[in-house]
Order: sequence, then C-alpha cells, then structure tokens
Amino acid sequence: MKLPFAEPFKIKMVEKIYRSTLQERERWIRDASFNLFNLRSEEVYIDLLTDSGTGAMSDKQWGAIMTGDESYAGASSYYNLKDAIWDITGFQYFLPAHQGRAAENVLFSVLVKEGDIVPGNSHFDTTKGHIEFRKAKAVDCTIDVARDPSAIHPFKGNVDLEKLENVLKNNPSGKIPFIIVTVTNNTSGGQPVSMSNIRGVSELARRYGIKLIIDGARFAENAYFIKTREKGFSNMQISEITREMFSYADGMTMSSKKDAIVNMGGFIAFREEKLFRQASTFNIIFEGFITYGGMSGRDMNALAQGLYEGTEFTYLESRIKQVEYLGNRLKESGIPIIEPFGGHAIFIDAKSFLNSIPREEFPAQTLAVELYTEGGVRGVEVGALMADRDPVTRENRYPDLEMVRLAIPRRVYTYNHMDYTAAVVKNVFERRNSITRGMRIKREALILRHFTVELERIMK
Ligand SMILES: *Cc1c(COP(=O)(O)O)cnc(C)c1O
Repeated sequence: MKLPFAEPFKIKMVEKIYRSTLQERERWIRDASFNLFNLRSEEVYIDLLTDSGTGAMSDKQWGAIMTGDESYAGASSYYNLKDAIWDITGFQYFLPAHQGRAAENVLFSVLVKEGDIVPGNSHFDTTKGHIEFRKAKAVDCTIDVARDPSAIHPFKGNVDLEKLENVLKNNPSGKIPFIIVTVTNNTSGGQPVSMSNIRGVSELARRYGIKLIIDGARFAENAYFIKTREKGFSNMQISEITREMFSYADGMTMSSKKDAIVNMGGFIAFREEKLFRQASTFNIIFEGFITYGGMSGRDMNALAQGLYEGTEFTYLESRIKQVEYLGNRLKESGIPIIEPFGGHAIFIDAKSFLNSIPREEFPAQTLAVELYTEGGVRGVEVGALMADRDPVTRENRYPDLEMVRLAIPRRVYTYNHMDYTAAVVKNVFERRNSITRGMRIKREALILRHFTVELERIMK
C-alpha cells in the first residue's frame, strides 16, 4: 500500500480554544454589530480571518528567540537574517522592516512620485494604498481568466504580457518606476504566477529599462506551485526555484507574517547597492537603524529560521494539501467555491450560495455572519463592504465577485478542524433557502469601512 501523506511535524505545545453555544454566538455577534472584526478572539472557535501573522512557530524558532542579539547596531541576528535572505532569494542587500506595508512605505518613498504608473498583477490593498497615497496609479495587468471564478488555469495569478507591454509602450518610461509582481497573488485568491511568466515580465522590463519588484509575501507557496505544476521544475529544490524566481527581479518587499511563519516582521531586499543606499535613509526615518528596522534581534533570528522552514518542500506540501483538503470537502457538498484552490485560502462564492440576497444587502457579509453563528468559524468578507464606496460619487462599489475567504493559518489547525469547518459551511448551505434577507449598514467610516462598519440584520 502506498503510504498516505502526513504532516512533517508533531505538536509540542497547545492552546485551548473554547467551543461556544449558539446562544452565546448570537449575542456576541449582535454586540459586535455583525462585524467579525469586532469579535474578541475568545468568542471564535476556529479563526480563519487571515493567515497573516497567525502561524505557529517551531521549537527551533522559539530557540532562536532565546539567542537573539539585541545590540542596536550590527547584531548577530541581523547577520543571521542576511544569510537566510541570501540563501533563499539571492539578494545581497536588505533592510529589515516591521511588516510588509512598512517595507512598501520605505521602498516606494524612493521610487514612486506623483503622476507615476505602477503596473502589476492585482496589487495587494496596502501596495495599492501606498501607490495611491503618493498620487500615483496602480494598473492591473492580470490575465482575464483570473476573473472567472470557475475557470481552471494552473497559474491564474499570471501577468498578461500584452496588457503590460501596452502600458509600457503607451507611457513615458520616466513615469513607470517599476513593475510589481505579487506571488502568489493574494487579491485574486492566492493564485500562483509561473516561472515563465516572471521571466516574460522581466524580459519586458529589461527591454523598456524598467525595474521589476516582487511582492514576495507568499513566494514559497508560489515556488511549490511552480515545482508541482510547471514543466521542468519537478526535480528542483524549493530554494533553487525561489532563487531563480528572484533572479529576474531587482528587488522585493516581504511581509514575513505569511510564508516566513513569524507573527510580525518584514523586509526589503535589493540587487544593487544604489537603491539599497537610497532606501536606507527612509528606513532610518520610518523604521529604525538599518540593522534592525523595526524588529528586535530575537524576532530577526526567528525570521531567519522561519525562512528556511517555510521553504522546505515537506512543510509546503502539508500546508497546501490542508487548504486543498478543506476545498475538496466543500466541493463534495456542492458548495460553490473558487477554483483552482489558492495556496492559503478557500474562497466561497457567496452570490451563488445565497442567491436570493441582492448585492445591496451584502450577501458575502451575511454568509460570513451565518458561518460564525452556526459554528464559531470566523472568515472574512471579500465583497462590496470591502470594495467600499467610490471616493467621488460616494456610491457603493459592487465587485464582480462576492466572496467569503477562509484563510488557513500555518501549522495551527488539524484535519479535524477542517472537517468541522466543512460541516459548518454545509449546515448553512442546507438551510440557505431560509436566508432571504441580508444586512444594512448602520454606521461606516470614510475609508476602509469593512474594519469598523456597524451593521444590522434586515428583517422581513
Ligand atoms: C499581507 C500582504 C502585504 C502587507 O503586509 P503586512 O505585513 O500585512 O503589512 C503586502 N502584500 C501582500 C501580497 C500581502 O499578502
């Protein structure tokens, strides 16, 4: 018999979670104004709000915490991190930052100015935020097939090279400081980008004399997909693949809270010294001295170790197979989900799940609230609430897709937790015809309203 797959780790420490009652959850979600961000974590049984900073560190990472060097300048922890970044990305220069958006802030302070254009593949919200904050424009050049929730494509995060070339051709190169490729593509559902696509983008970038930056938050999961889906890579080590991916780029920004399996941290890495020098000034202003940049020595040590662990094939296999397992359980029950499954999350298509709720009543938020009340599972709405209002007309913006994202933290939950989650979704699915009304907004902020919005249920 072929031996089944199993996790390449065992559990050394556990954290108790409370399995609440339906009555408790009904009260808590009402007190939270039907906004899942307002819940206390103790009120959540299985927390799939995000995979960012929620992973479980290993014994080796905790060990590295104890040997962290807290010297202001030149700490050994800084050099440990420098070595890890060199081994895994091939970038010689780097600056620590306290998280991914801080890395963006530092790098974009050097590169982005008013009126610039930054093409890429569905930029992440903070990336777009840092571009638009500087009165520049993010242009999305993702392949069209990414917009079809059921279209099967092995690399649905790819850049459309024709769209990209049109942007490069039709704008003065002085207006385009860089191209940014996000791997895997968070905004389009954790979909990977192929090596040949990255190579294609880099050829275009070179031809037009423009820099290529990789947003590498989930670079290791992307490398796993390249190894398992793209021809010619199956015999390569993950770290060989990551080095090749980054060899096409001039630099990267990193949210270490994702694939480097730490709870807080980030960095910027560079190929050339000049850009590193320019960014160093901003790093000192915004983050801290160039050998710690917003991180303590112990955290840099844990991050260095996390980079090695996060790029081990057996770990990545267990991680991505767990996400796939949840996806398959949902699919078997006929639940409409986005395919192929992403690397870090499963996305439920809320418009088809609750098809009698009009978009004006926020079907995805309604579904996220139902999943919570049914079984204490916390996902997140990725729909009209998150899409916010048009800044000029103040009208609601309705995206093509209304989704609930179930993001799986790394090394945290077991397969039983996945079965439980699937059962919760299935129970709601079986009573979906009785859910005919959605939510109405009671109070909202001017921007990024989904974090603080207050809602109420619309009664018949
Ligand atoms: C999370 C994330 C960021 C921002 O990082 P933070 O650590 O949350 O500030 C940037 N890009 C991508 C693709 C991300 O997933």
